[in-house]
Amino acid sequence: MLTHQPPIIAYESGRCTRCGTCLASCPVDALSLTEGRDVFDITVDHDACIGCLKCVRVCPAAALPERPLREIDFTNMRRALLACASDVTERHKASSGGVARTLARAALASKWVDAVYCAVQRNDEPFAEGAFLTSIDEIDRISNSVYCAFPFNRNLRLKHGGQRLKRVLYIGTNCQIQGAENFFLDSGVEFIKVAIICKQQKTRGYVRWARRMLKQSADDTTPIRYRGYGWPGRLTSGTATYQNYFRPFSMELWRVPGCRFCPHAIGDGSDVLLADPWNLISTTEGNAGLTMTMLRTERALALWNIAAPYLTEDRELTAADVQKSIDWKRYQKKQARISYFLGREASRARRLFYGFIENQRYFYGWLFGTFPVPEIIEKILNRTLKK
Ligand SMILES: Cc1cc2nc3c(=O)[nH]c(=O)nc-3n(C[C@H](O)[C@H](O)[C@H](O)COP(=O)(O)OP(=O)(O)OC[C@H]3O[C@@H](n4cnc5c(N)ncnc54)[C@H](O)[C@@H]3O)c2cc1C
Repeated sequence: MLTHQPPIIAYESGRCTRCGTCLASCPVDALSLTEGRDVFDITVDHDACIGCLKCVRVCPAAALPERPLREIDFTNMRRALLACASDVTERHKASSGGVARTLARAALASKWVDAVYCAVQRNDEPFAEGAFLTSIDEIDRISNSVYCAFPFNRNLRLKHGGQRLKRVLYIGTNCQIQGAENFFLDSGVEFIKVAIICKQQKTRGYVRWARRMLKQSADDTTPIRYRGYGWPGRLTSGTATYQNYFRPFSMELWRVPGCRFCPHAIGDGSDVLLADPWNLISTTEGNAGLTMTMLRTERALALWNIAAPYLTEDRELTAADVQKSIDWKRYQKKQARISYFLGREASRARRLFYGFIENQRYFYGWLFGTFPVPEIIEKILNRTLKK
């Protein structure tokens, strides 16, 4: 998180969501990335800084700790449904059902937007970056879910290819959307938001664990792909494959520190919300996957109509289906406690209790990423973390 503490811009690593918006906002390149063992940090060059405060204004984390966890009215959606790309090959490349990439394709093919801003694959660490796409020939660059944090918004601009952007389809997670909203504020760029539901992004501790599961050494640099090959997919790297990659994933091990302050997993005020179909379809069939899709605004319905020729609708969902799939009540309760505790407003007893849980998490994260922990121990430790 970046704040103005006169006369300098101060950086607080523990509250940074790693969205990278500050890097795009600085007119004099006074901000840079410093690679740490687990997450990158932002370094401010105080000599180069001209004190314009653009980075502070775009930083979404500045607003997060004060914001309580939002109650979401899931009955308020225009439509909620399970859907997928009609093209089965696309579904197999995707994280869930390939709806995100299909919306991008349709929006570009129909020239509904000038550009799509989304995560694309790279072959070097951290294997993804944010990029503007302007042609359907570029759709194959779109990555499926990248769980390890990277400075997604770093490449945001108001112009692309020398042209001022007018209308952009932006696909990203909650913190990224909030950073981009601040970036585009008063710019005249119309900004259509597709939120990827995200309960947390991961540190490199997760990557070290993944390399171990893939039987690769910790310093291997072969690109990692976290999803793909059907639902719920596989973790792959080169020819190495691991199927149960999500096993310790939901346990909040290796969570990026700033994720503790996220007011909710769902992009604030987004037009479309996309999520995995957990608890709605089986994880054992090895099928081609479906995306839980929520259309919240008129613009979302318009985009859906444009994309209809490329999409297959499976079934409509109720608000209860959506809550069940996200496991919303449990997530909300847990996140409220943790962010409240870390927001330093909790009682002493609560702070001690959650301080203990958090330290336990760091310890388990380190243990899983460092040593080959037998499966039975892994199960027991995971169960204690579920609390
Ligand atoms: C960090 C993270 C955590 C997630 N956590 C959950 C969860 O807890 N529960 C749940 O139901 N779903 C979660 N998801 C969403 C889920 O994995 C799928 O992304 C979603 O269902 C869309 O699937 P799709 O097949 O339609 O997308 P695809 O067509 O495969 O497209 C994927 C889209 O996601 C974008 N993308 C991938 N990684 C990132 C990233 N790190 N930052 C920004 N954009 C990215 C790509 O650019 C692309 O536009 C998470 C996704 C991410 C990236």
